[in-house]
Amino acid sequence: MTSNDTNSGGTKGGSKGARCPICGRETLLAFRPFCSRRCADVDLSRWLGGAYAIPIEDADADEDGDDIEAIIAAHERDTSRGGRG
Ligand SMILES: [Zn+2]
Repeated sequence: MTSNDTNSGGTKGGSKGARCPICGRETLLAFRPFCSRRCADVDLSRWLGGAYAIPIEDADADEDGDDIEAIIAAHERDTSRGGRG
């Protein structure tokens, strides 16, 4: 029986395959999640430039306001009902 040492046949080092979101190259630990400082800079400039514009959703706030209005409406209705008879 001979120990087969031809099992390994790929890349050395457990790389998870993280890629730079800017250029798609392998990321470097020092510049994660980018591959280089340049790409990190590009991302930053994009942020500053507004390329990554974050949409401000007022749905949550609106819902909250609606809830309060509904409560007030219900309260008014109740009062009206009681006064009427
Ligand atoms: Zn890159």
